[in-house]
Amino acid sequence: MASPRGATTNPQVLTGANVVLPTRTVQNGRLCVDGTRITGTAPAGARTVDVSGHWLVPGFVDLHNHGGGGASFSGTAEEILTAVRTHREHGTTTLVASTVTDATDALARQAGLLSELAEQGEIAGIHFEGPFISPCRKGAHSEALLRDPEPAEVRKLIDAARGQARMLTLAAELPGGIDSVRLLAEHGVIAAIGHTDATYEQTVEAVEAGATVATHLFNAMPALGHRAPGPVAALLEDERVTVELINDGTHLHPAALELAFHHAGADRVAFITDAMDAAGIGDGRYMLGPLEVEVSEGVARLVEGGSIAGSTLTLDRAFKRAVTVDRLPVGDAVKALSANPARLLGLSDRVGSLEPGKDADLVLLDAEFDVKGVMRRGEWVVAPQLG
Ligand SMILES: [Zn+2]
Repeated sequence: MASPRGATTNPQVLTGANVVLPTRTVQNGRLCVDGTRITGTAPAGARTVDVSGHWLVPGFVDLHNHGGGGASFSGTAEEILTAVRTHREHGTTTLVASTVTDATDALARQAGLLSELAEQGEIAGIHFEGPFISPCRKGAHSEALLRDPEPAEVRKLIDAARGQARMLTLAAELPGGIDSVRLLAEHGVIAAIGHTDATYEQTVEAVEAGATVATHLFNAMPALGHRAPGPVAALLEDERVTVELINDGTHLHPAALELAFHHAGADRVAFITDAMDAAGIGDGRYMLGPLEVEVSEGVARLVEGGSIAGSTLTLDRAFKRAVTVDRLPVGDAVKALSANPARLLGLSDRVGSLEPGKDADLVLLDAEFDVKGVMRRGEWVVAPQLG
């Protein structure tokens, strides 16, 4: 039987686009694809696809995402794949699945399921958000299930993920926090500081112990104060830290985003979605783990208490907003959406930029920065719409 993949992995040359490379944008450039990879020269028998007037950027890499398409990463394998596909159609070709606070056994079971999908190449690993977070900054996590970051408990989650744990968000000021940061760093798992009530000094200590990511900087942590600069200043000032930002226009004021870019520089920012089930669908009632969420006009809030509960963002919208509203240079937006998170995950040899030898993961955008095509590993997930 002929493989249906054959038809979509034909060697091809995309011509006429603004091709965004790591250090420059080539106007009227071309990009060659053979099989699953980008190649430096046109492969024999390649078909030409004229994409004049469009942008070609690397596929987006989402470090922090709870679901989409009506499904969550806390669900069944089928639901997980629904969420993955939804985000892929919006340009996210590499995605780390985030869990929410739950009992250790439940998280370990979910980690087992997610690790299988990671081994199959559907997701790029697991981010545990909670349960080791501060009750004062719990956001949309169930308070009753929060606990201190006992290193032995942290170790259980790392083991349950069978080599697929990429990141764990914790409040390092809690008892056991600093030891847990060290343990994570020793196991090659990113220790991310978030949902935290830490002081500036406590955050500095966590970074010294090995924490390298700020989980959605500004959100779910004390605000920047002139006498109590808190985690925001400590995380922004240290060159070892990459800061996540949710660029949906709701979680952050544009001036806060500009401040983060100004202080951290374009190489230390990662745009994330922190998306929940409603991403890619619309308003309505959803579950976020065990908590009920109401989405109205694209903003997700807990039914009880009204906390913002994740976003309905997709990374294509974060990109468009970055270049049209925030007026970031396209190259800087690409860093924040692709190159930086790829580097953090240790995947720079395969994804995060349009270079020969890397996976043919790319997003085709029109002049208004709307998605007109998505390719993942040489296959069009969204066929080019060039009308
Ligand atoms: Zn989250």
